[in-house]
Amino acid sequence: MTAAPPPFRGHRSLRTALARALIRRELPATLLIHGIPGCGKQTLALWIARTRLCEENPRPCDHCLSCRRALALEHPDIHWYFPLPRPTRKSSPEKLADALEDARAARLAEYRKQPLRPNGGHEVKGIYIGAVRSLRERASKRPSISEEQIFIIGDAEYLIPQEASPEAANALLKLLEEPPAGSRFILTSGAPGSLLDTIRSRALPIHLPPLPIADVAAFLEEECGAVPEAAREAAARSQGSIGAAIGELDPGGELARERQGALKLLRAAIGGGNESIFAAALDFGPGGARGLVDLLGTLQLRIRDLAAATLGCENRVVDVGELSFLRRAGSGLALTPERAARAVARVEEARRLALGNVNPQLFVAALLLDLRRTLVSSKPRSKKPLSRKPRPGP
Ligand SMILES: [Zn+2]
Repeated sequence: MTAAPPPFRGHRSLRTALARALIRRELPATLLIHGIPGCGKQTLALWIARTRLCEENPRPCDHCLSCRRALALEHPDIHWYFPLPRPTRKSSPEKLADALEDARAARLAEYRKQPLRPNGGHEVKGIYIGAVRSLRERASKRPSISEEQIFIIGDAEYLIPQEASPEAANALLKLLEEPPAGSRFILTSGAPGSLLDTIRSRALPIHLPPLPIADVAAFLEEECGAVPEAAREAAARSQGSIGAAIGELDPGGELARERQGALKLLRAAIGGGNESIFAAALDFGPGGARGLVDLLGTLQLRIRDLAAATLGCENRVVDVGELSFLRRAGSGLALTPERAARAVARVEEARRLALGNVNPQLFVAALLLDLRRTLVSSKPRSKKPLSRKPRPGP
């Protein structure tokens, strides 16, 4: 059975401006929607595609055949790509491309059944060269029923180096440099700084801001059946991201585990000795650093919380359930706004590096030692590159 996707929330003036520009054909062939994870970037991309291909007015009408097929994720001229785990079957590039197409179709079938996608999860995923090849092949053909075909590439930062080569990103770049007539590309990213400059420079950037917390709470009540109190609490922790808020509704879900994982990293960095850092690093396997990207995003939020709890802005702490830990931990640190900002920037750099080919254990150990130097010691030492093997401390 197919569930109807929830209506698009908020961003009314942005959508009005986009719809007008689409109708007047003023938008370039490539767009890049960026914003925090789960804030609705791919939903907006699907909305833009639906608006562009709608056959009625005002657009999107949500009722014409084109709109109905788009809403059911079955429009033959809307192609939605996103990061997927690497299939094990890969005896030839063709077989890999086929396996990726099968995995994409299976994931789309899941989204049809359950359109609400929570944040969280440590899936090691990528947008592989095989997927970009099938995308290019489709783009070289004419649209099936519309005058334009639209390619959505969600979380495009996952195009970045795979197997130590930027092959997938470069293959996409060639396509964006000379987009085939009748093709439009909408990229989305929660980390646009990780995209190749050459890709970024070809796209019109559109920032999708977080939603007001009250709107997120209303969404949880109306679309997820949450009771008002749970909706308010989850919304307050969501930073205005519907994906995060849905994840927060499930206390045993992936996002809750991710939050606990991030707190464990923070505890290891600011308390205990170096052995606690190495123990935390050994929780990770020797491969699959890309699974760390979301966890590190959550770690950034926890560092911001620690700074807010320590520097007299407790009302800005997001994870209020951890307030007493944050107060206690912060009281032993010589934390300043500059140090907190530096720590958040170090984790941002680590997120970018995690998309490449690094050993998660060495990588986490080096990051935590670095965070300890930044957050704890009274005399911060010079920065060390994260990719180098960590030296045991004194
Ligand atoms: Zn329509």
